[in-house]
Amino acid sequence: MEHPENNEEYKGLVVNKGIEQPSSVNPYFKKRPRQKKPELSVSEFVEGIVKGNITILSQAVTLVESVKPEHQAIAQEVIEKCLPYSGDSVRIGISGVPGAGKSTSIDVFGLHVLERGGKLAVLAIDPSSERSKGSILGDKTRMEQLSVHPASFIRPSPSAGSLGGVARKTRETIILCEAAGFDKIFVETVGVGQSETAVHSMVDFFLLIQLAGTGDELQGIKRGIMEMADGIVINKADGSNIEKAQLAATQFRNALHLFPLPDSGWTPQVLTYSGFYNIGVKEIWDMVYEYLDFVKKSGYFQHRRNEQSKYWMYESINEQLRDSFYNNEKIGSLLEEKEEQVLRGNLTSFVAAKKLLDTYFEELKK
Ligand code: GDP
Repeated sequence: MEHPENNEEYKGLVVNKGIEQPSSVNPYFKKRPRQKKPELSVSEFVEGIVKGNITILSQAVTLVESVKPEHQAIAQEVIEKCLPYSGDSVRIGISGVPGAGKSTSIDVFGLHVLERGGKLAVLAIDPSSERSKGSILGDKTRMEQLSVHPASFIRPSPSAGSLGGVARKTRETIILCEAAGFDKIFVETVGVGQSETAVHSMVDFFLLIQLAGTGDELQGIKRGIMEMADGIVINKADGSNIEKAQLAATQFRNALHLFPLPDSGWTPQVLTYSGFYNIGVKEIWDMVYEYLDFVKKSGYFQHRRNEQSKYWMYESINEQLRDSFYNNEKIGSLLEEKEEQVLRGNLTSFVAAKKLLDTYFEELKK
């Protein structure tokens, strides 16, 4: 095919060679370093917290929850410096299965205890939660009145992790909240297993919320959880449900009689109430305050707190030892191999464990 435009004589329309695409970035634009928010120093954190500054308290809690070692280092120092300002509070654990009415109840319980003045922090332990998926307490509308109350601080559960890790963070958050002047602490947990033990190990009173069911009320409630309870309250005792709730209460009372008296010397009480209609709420709190008077007089209140501090010291040691073992590189590469050998029957579990531990201790010496 002929190309007349290549002929010098050609005067018609021509197609120019394309031009290079100009750079889309302005070469004269000077990159300015992004203004990073100045981080607070440990003493600024402590000062802000002790003054009751909620923004600084929230920032400190975020550091407590962070997995970054540099954040943890600051957090631990802040906690240590806040410790002398903490402890002057009542810590209440509130547990119940999903749907038992925890958030509805905490909303009315919170308003009730705030009638006496002071400040309330609501924390949670939910190792299964992921914040993005609307964790427990993550959705503030769950506690409509409390979330807008000027004397309340609601913080969702630290996001998913090992139960021990999540619980430790909540316990450390309690210390910060108390240093910030919160004299009432609620720790909520979903009543579906081990998390009750964790909550029980950081509160002065453990309240178990139950529902009247259709069949055997006590079915599915682990004996251990009932034994931990300082008070059992049957929610939704309203409308046509009142009788059922009272029946459930009688069954719980009978069951509790079979247990030995707890160390506190206090017989756990069983009450019915309706969180939604605010019926029986005062009676629950009268019971809680009566318990607190009782154990403060007997000395059990301080004894329990001391036991808890001891428990957390050992928990902390266990957690760090475990982490150090499993994060060890040599162990990481050996674990699978030993597991295989155990599964194939070439090695007993105990010998495998011993070999791994021996390797670990050797590694430590290096
Ligand atoms: P949570 O999952 O334990 O936090 O339970 P919620 O507080 O979200 O309550 C679960 C459902 O039970 C909601 O639909 C509440 O409206 C309802 N509920 C909570 N408390 C009561 C109550 O005292 N009486 C009745 N009838 N319903 C209630």
